[in-house]
Amino acid sequence: MRYGVSYILIIAAVLVLLNTYPLLVSEDMVFRSKGTTMSASVSVMVSSLSGLDRLTEENVAAAMAAAEESGLSRILVTDNAGKVLYDTRETSSAIGDYVLYAELVQALTGMDAFSCIYENGAFRSRASSPVLYQNQIIGAVYAYEYDRTQAALLEGMQGNLLRLSAVVGAVVLGLSIIMSASLTKKIGALLTAIRQVREGAYSHRAYITGRDEIAQIGQEFNNLTDRLQTTENARRRFVSDASHELKTPLAAIRLLSDSILQTDNMDMPTTREFVSDIGDEAERLTRITEDLLRLTRLDSGILDVPVPVELLPVLEQVLRMMSLVAQEKEIELTYRAEEGCTVLGTKDEIYQVFYNLIDNAVKYSSAGGTVLVSLQSEGDEVVFTVEDNGAGIPEEDLPRIFERFYRVDKARSRAAGGTGLGLSIVSDTVKRRHGTVQAANRPQGGAVFTVRWPRERGERP
Ligand code: ADP
Repeated sequence: MRYGVSYILIIAAVLVLLNTYPLLVSEDMVFRSKGTTMSASVSVMVSSLSGLDRLTEENVAAAMAAAEESGLSRILVTDNAGKVLYDTRETSSAIGDYVLYAELVQALTGMDAFSCIYENGAFRSRASSPVLYQNQIIGAVYAYEYDRTQAALLEGMQGNLLRLSAVVGAVVLGLSIIMSASLTKKIGALLTAIRQVREGAYSHRAYITGRDEIAQIGQEFNNLTDRLQTTENARRRFVSDASHELKTPLAAIRLLSDSILQTDNMDMPTTREFVSDIGDEAERLTRITEDLLRLTRLDSGILDVPVPVELLPVLEQVLRMMSLVAQEKEIELTYRAEEGCTVLGTKDEIYQVFYNLIDNAVKYSSAGGTVLVSLQSEGDEVVFTVEDNGAGIPEEDLPRIFERFYRVDKARSRAAGGTGLGLSIVSDTVKRRHGTVQAANRPQGGAVFTVRWPRERGERP
């Protein structure tokens, strides 16, 4: 409504101006031209009477016969008292009468007079000038013109303007109704979509056609809702996966403890075995909750202030620990690393990245396998890779292994003590520090993980 009304008001103002201004100007132009032509005609008549010392009906008639002016509706000549001596009007001629037209009275005081009015579809112009003899006013000439032709032209123009205004008005009214309606419809659709999504219907989308700003807002809203839906789905899946992961060890603990309680006279070795299993499951729960806490911290975006960290000592610390596990599994763990690889972060998080990747490589390799770790700087980057010659990762699983709780082989991961969260923690940690992590399969078999961090060239810690 507001849109429509403001359009209409503006156009109405323009139309009023269009309808009045040209008419006023043309009227004024007609008045001026009448003024010049009438004054000219009157002065011609005055000059033809100027030789006379006294005005009488006869000598005026004779002089006027020579100077008769066509196009004028009436011509009067009076003496200096205003008595009519000559009148071009034949029916009810005023000869002999005294006339007191304003213009004539003014002429008899010695001044030229002119007036023009536009009324009832005609221009009525009156002009009058004194007739002098030796600087004495001896009479006056008065001319009157009644003009319908110019007035008809003006009226025609007025009519055209009115018709034009009516058409323009109707078009503007129609357009403003259509535009306001379409705008209101689009905004309405957007509002409905926003309300639906606010109520939780994340699959609802705003359908707005066109390419205007409202349509763009609609598109942006849909993109936003897409992201919201993805995040919401991920959150739901995460919660359900997390509960499932927590439920499994809890159920095992429950089962084992029930067995101990319900079995009379259970022998010592079996009891010890069951209690040790309960301990393993409890440890698993601890690992899962620790990983979940780590991820929650990463999600919240509250990170420890980064400092430049020299990576070699951290890597050596992880390798010292992992070499025992590798030895036990008969896996050859070798490394090639250079000094001076410094990145921004914290020691703990880098330890976690190294640990998770090397631990996986060892975990998913079989006896007799080799794991090769390398750390080096390449231009502005620090590159860390872990290669193994294990089974590798099926190509179709590669894009998903960084997802939370995603495992290629659930049973194997569980058996190896995995939580399914290790790679998500690696990926989130590295991304938070503006790095990247990639997983691939080696052509000769086995997996290779590559982490790239921006290299820190500032002071060494
Ligand atoms: P998990 O705790 O199960 O190891 P991760 O997030 O660390 O969880 O890894 C996700 C999955 O990716 C693993 O379950 C495993 O299937 C696969 N994966 C990770 N690293 C390797 C590797 N070096 N070789 C083969 N598969 C791997």
